[in-house]
Amino acid sequence: SLIITDECINCDVCEPECPNDAIFMGEEIYEIHSHLCTECVGHFDTPQCVEVCPVECIPKDPNNEETNDQLLLKYQQLMATN
Ligand code: SF4
Ligand code: SF4
Repeated sequence: SLIITDECINCDVCEPECPNDAIFMGEEIYEIHSHLCTECVGHFDTPQCVEVCPVECIPKDPNNEETNDQLLLKYQQLMATN
């Protein structure tokens, strides 16, 4: 999944763009539910939150690296349970 770093300025623009409703306001900055983030695989060609973030603070989470196949499987499982 992706992760939001502490450079986040709480501008609110990414949250409504997430097709998986994975972004939420945490205690101090916005955060991403890693179990819901497919890096937009299944929905879009590029991560929508990264597209709109003005300060480029949403990298891949180095502690949660996933292959495209894993992300696609996650997407399919999310669709099946919703
Ligand atoms: Fe949501 Fe896509 Fe950003 Fe993941 S990469 S948090 S699924 S908008
Ligand atoms: Fe934070 Fe970037 Fe989302 Fe704005 S778009 S709330 S700066 S992560």
